[in-house]
Amino acid sequence: MDNEIRVRFAPSPTGPFHIGGARSALFNWLLAKKLGGKMVLRIEDTDRDRSKPEYEENIKNALKWLGINWDEGVDVGGPYGPYRQMERLDIYKKYTDQLLAEGKAYYCYCSPEELEAEREALTAAGKMPRYMGKCRNLTPEQRAKFEAEGRKPTIRFRVPEGVDLTFNDLVRGEVHFDSDGIGDFVIVKADGIPTYNYAVVIDDSLMHITHVIRAEEHLSNTPRQLLVYDALGFKRPEFGHISLILGKDKKKMSKRHGATSCDQYRQLGYLPHALVNFLALLGWAPTDEQEIFTTEELIKAFNMKHVAKNPAVFDIEKLNWINAHYIKQMTPEDFFALAKPFMVKAGYMTGEETGEKLAWLEKVVATAQTQVEFGAQIPPAVALYFNDNFDFETQEAADVLKEETVPTVMDMFFKELAEAATLDGPTVKAMFKTIQKTTKLNGKHVYMPVRVALTGNQHGPELVEMIPLLGAERTKQRMEASLKKAGIK
Ligand code: GLU
Repeated sequence: MDNEIRVRFAPSPTGPFHIGGARSALFNWLLAKKLGGKMVLRIEDTDRDRSKPEYEENIKNALKWLGINWDEGVDVGGPYGPYRQMERLDIYKKYTDQLLAEGKAYYCYCSPEELEAEREALTAAGKMPRYMGKCRNLTPEQRAKFEAEGRKPTIRFRVPEGVDLTFNDLVRGEVHFDSDGIGDFVIVKADGIPTYNYAVVIDDSLMHITHVIRAEEHLSNTPRQLLVYDALGFKRPEFGHISLILGKDKKKMSKRHGATSCDQYRQLGYLPHALVNFLALLGWAPTDEQEIFTTEELIKAFNMKHVAKNPAVFDIEKLNWINAHYIKQMTPEDFFALAKPFMVKAGYMTGEETGEKLAWLEKVVATAQTQVEFGAQIPPAVALYFNDNFDFETQEAADVLKEETVPTVMDMFFKELAEAATLDGPTVKAMFKTIQKTTKLNGKHVYMPVRVALTGNQHGPELVEMIPLLGAERTKQRMEASLKKAGIK
């Protein structure tokens, strides 16, 4: 136990699980797996207005979906629980009483209005706003007077002067703060609930956390937390602050840049491992050029030394590329399972199909496997198999049917189609060969008019793939309708 590596992921359940949170969880998990350590999941639910049980569920489900499991924490338990902060209030109280008794913390009766006025005055004077310590040295009489007025006190940490708060960040190297820039901060709110900077220290310490890996936005909280570690005589853990995630425009990743919650990616049909692979590369880089990693490879290669200081850029094209890679590797059964909810939603199947109909759907869906980057792209990729009433995609496409050789090609094609005993890839290929040979036209003049007549489009899947799936009857009907529309027949 003494040398055991213990990390934690400590989300606040105040909103849908963000991909930034997923990355923090992943880095902690990779570190734990690599070093044979333990991962703790603690829920920091002290923001009572914004915390919701459904967000906690959302976080846990997303972690499970990603394959990030935890050894201790909510739901699974462990020796240092409870693992929800609101269930630990008596624990915090014990330490607060200690700090108060030692004079390291004190009651503050300043009202929000008074604090606001102080902040404004300091800002107007060009100074950094901070609490100036008005209640630092209240006499028992002054306290009694405030209590009699019905004021509910907060508890503030008495920040010592002139303390050097330097620490060695695993990502950013030596980081320096000075206690003089920090005003006495609230550790317990007027309603008795501890603040983040306070509870986090007690929890990390009592849960024997050795490495605190979290987002860069918490870097400026660290000096306050160090003060609490020192005041309570707790050993400081190692800290590693991983950089912000920026959009491609170098602005902080937000909804403007697209999907930001883990759920949205799941709903769009991204594969959990693809997301894990992508998130691992957001701020961490292997020593070589490798970009596709199995989980085992990630665990083996991951190293905090190669977590970058500079911001990570969320490149959706890269995620799509990685996802497409894993999609291509799926078994046809798995790919069909991925497609199914999207196909049902698009109205292309009910999900209850059996027999021939199901076999046909499986073949149709299979044609999308090499084309799509994520699940939601599957229905548009196979739409042409479901929609017989299409228009020409462009004028250029419509014009293809006006070429003078088109009537000959069409006549021959229909003749071949009628004569074909079976309709599979090789027979369709042979049909086109025969037409080409007889007409002496080059491939383009044979294939393109058939393609446009069949789909309204100059681009799309291979004809040898499409025609067998559409069958002779639908192929003929669709082409005749197009020729009619183009005024050929
Ligand atoms: N509850 C904090 C958050 O979600 C945790 C920060 C930390 O890891 O210390 O941002």
